[in-house]
Amino acid sequence: MGKKGILVVVSGFAGSGKGTLMRELTSRYENYALSVSATTRKPRPGEEEGKEYFFKTTEEFQAMIAADEFIEYAQYVNNYYGTPRAYVEEQLKAGKDVILEIEVQGALQIKEKFQTDTLLLFVTPPNANILKKRLVGRGTEPMAVVGQRLLRASEEAEFIPDYDYLIINDNLEECVKTMNEIIQNEHVRAFRNSEFIKNIREGLLNLSKGE
Ligand code: 5GP
Repeated sequence: MGKKGILVVVSGFAGSGKGTLMRELTSRYENYALSVSATTRKPRPGEEEGKEYFFKTTEEFQAMIAADEFIEYAQYVNNYYGTPRAYVEEQLKAGKDVILEIEVQGALQIKEKFQTDTLLLFVTPPNANILKKRLVGRGTEPMAVVGQRLLRASEEAEFIPDYDYLIINDNLEECVKTMNEIIQNEHVRAFRNSEFIKNIREGLLNLSKGE
């Protein structure tokens, strides 16, 4: 049942812990493929080309937009971010659930384009103070950028009701388990199994006629 992969979009405020969550999820369970985005943001210390992101100049990024190489892209706090198309399509076909860790504008583009083939999850810390502490504690951004990101987070919160599930990240272990269950349960949703339903209907009808 449900052999085709699901396009799983995970958004969350910067500092929500979703990066760690995604790394745990994809290393613990086999059925996930994590998409690597392209960005014009400069690498942070420890980030590697092709691992966290494909780092591009603005010109390179714009050329990729022109060549229709992204399934979605957006501007976020002065930089471009986009999801390269080829890897996503390949992995979905191979039956993997593909995880896109992207912000809300991109998530809404994906929902509009792929409709019921998607599952949208929003990750949030238990409260606003914890978010600020995590952003400041990370020490990778100047205070002005922390302020920008908090303002951006408050704007993003407006779109949470457009997501399918809200995941409150107060315990990493529980969160990883919950996310895996949510995604795997999606595969048995009736509407995702129209092929199975069609086959069993035909089979039953044939048997009822004694064939
Ligand atoms: P950061 O600079 O902290 O790595 O990422 C900033 C924001 O951009 C995060 O919310 C992250 O999820 C989002 N992001 C990363 N890759 C993509 C992408 O390919 N498309 C979109 N729309 N957002 C992305």
